[in-house]
Amino acid sequence: GDLAGLDNLVANTAYLRAQQVNHKEVRKQRRLSLPKLERSSTLRAAVKRDYASLCELQPIGRKLFWQFLLASNQQYAAAAEFLEELNIWDLAEDEAKEEAKQSIIAKFCKAGSSSFLSYLTGEAAERCQAVSEKDFEEVMMGKVRKATRDFLKRKPFSEYQKSPFFDKFLQWKEYENQRITDRYFYEFRTLGRGGFGEVCAVQVKHTGKMYACKKLDKRRLKKKSGERMALLEKQILEKVNSLFIVNLVYAYDNKTHLCLVMSLMTGGDLKFHIYELGPRGMRMERVIYYTAQITTGILHLHSMDIVYRDMKPENVLLDSQGQCRLSDLGLAVVLPKGKTIFQKVSAGTTGYMAPEILRQEYYRTSVDWWALGCSIYEMVAARLPFRDFREKVQEDEVTRRTLEDESEQSQSTKLLPAQGGAECLRKRSHKFFQNINFHRLEAGLVEPPWVPRSDVVYAKDTDEFRDMSEVKDVELDAKDEKFFKEFSTGVVSIPWQREMIDSGMFDELNEDCEAERKSRSCVI
Ligand code: ADP
Ligand code: MG
Ligand code: MG
Repeated sequence: GDLAGLDNLVANTAYLRAQQVNHKEVRKQRRLSLPKLERSSTLRAAVKRDYASLCELQPIGRKLFWQFLLASNQQYAAAAEFLEELNIWDLAEDEAKEEAKQSIIAKFCKAGSSSFLSYLTGEAAERCQAVSEKDFEEVMMGKVRKATRDFLKRKPFSEYQKSPFFDKFLQWKEYENQRITDRYFYEFRTLGRGGFGEVCAVQVKHTGKMYACKKLDKRRLKKKSGERMALLEKQILEKVNSLFIVNLVYAYDNKTHLCLVMSLMTGGDLKFHIYELGPRGMRMERVIYYTAQITTGILHLHSMDIVYRDMKPENVLLDSQGQCRLSDLGLAVVLPKGKTIFQKVSAGTTGYMAPEILRQEYYRTSVDWWALGCSIYEMVAARLPFRDFREKVQEDEVTRRTLEDESEQSQSTKLLPAQGGAECLRKRSHKFFQNINFHRLEAGLVEPPWVPRSDVVYAKDTDEFRDMSEVKDVELDAKDEKFFKEFSTGVVSIPWQREMIDSGMFDELNEDCEAERKSRSCVI
């Protein structure tokens, strides 16, 4: 009725306004400071001294190590600047790329230059000084980059660990260990409904950053024996780190629910875009762009021996810029070690399931390529290859058609893996992708062909999510509590550190410390 309409309007207004919020404004109201250094002594002893993790993978670690290099001496600073500029060159295009190349040669390769890479020795040094336009990529991305990394890993890395920059890193890590509760967030409208509870929008009070929070009802989980799967979903989500898969940032619990706080995808799912917006189907440009991102996301999962098993347009969500990510990893599984063939389990969604699943055979990652093939077909034709739009059809009829079609090798499904399309998709060498620069795509630098409007809420009205019945006939015991603890691990390092940097929190807290250091006139 009208009241429901009004509720929806109010909820949408609050939700849209929160997204426009200026991070600085939010933070002014809540001053924060890092925990005292003395408190991080346990951490100092416990933290694994791994270069890749401390100085490359963790965004805050990387920033502080870089700051250390720039502040130390000419040689360290040159190494840091060189890697940065090489990275820019690597991702640049056209004239910008050419300029970056010339700049690198002049700055770092000529013995007279103040930022000459003086730590290079042997063949790396020789080749660097003699580098030409032609062998630039081979030399710089190869030997010289490797030698630079090897250099940084030794003396600079060990000095860094004795520096105030590393102290600061430990303070951030200490802060990262905080317990997360409901009070950490503001809550906004419901965005969707899952099997164990709703998904709603939330905002981190300290930073203003918006996320989606997937809530799993503890009693419902127990009643339907969903605990093991929920934990698996959480463990897989925290392991993956891809621009094309939703990121998990916090996992915590309250009295009634387990909560997964993930990237907020405000642009709606691809099923909605195929069937509900304008003419059915999608422009080819969009199909290709999304398929390129999805393929990259699936490859990331497969590289960790994870099979997604639920590839379909409904599970692909768009963010506010129009880039997409895979979501709902509830059916994903980790393949057993040694890459042995996977056990028989029938899992997936009717219409997208591969013949090897339908025939109850052993299968591995191939099933994701099949499902992607079906999804591409659906994006183009606004129907499934084995099920017409709105066709009422039994599950075993879809199975029959799938198996028959595969044996007939019909023309209509050229992209399906049975016809060898999978191999091309996997290598991303299919001519379908000829206009996609995967290198730039993976850095998030390829502009989306379609951008969601910032004043539209791409979700069902709030009143469509009401009344999920309460589960009463289930008692929670000590064993359940143990499981909830195992689930509620709090902050996920990498995406959380990214939040601290992107929201400006990192710079702000460091400035405070900088001022403090100056006032005590201690020099680093
Ligand atoms: P379930 O595994 O129980 O099916 P999902 O993960 O599919 O739960 O989430 C349920 C619904 O919530 C989705 O269909 C989608 O509408 C919405 N949703 C899920 N994740 C997000 C997200 N990260 N951003 C925005 N909406 C989301
Ligand atoms: Mg779902
Ligand atoms: Mg699920």
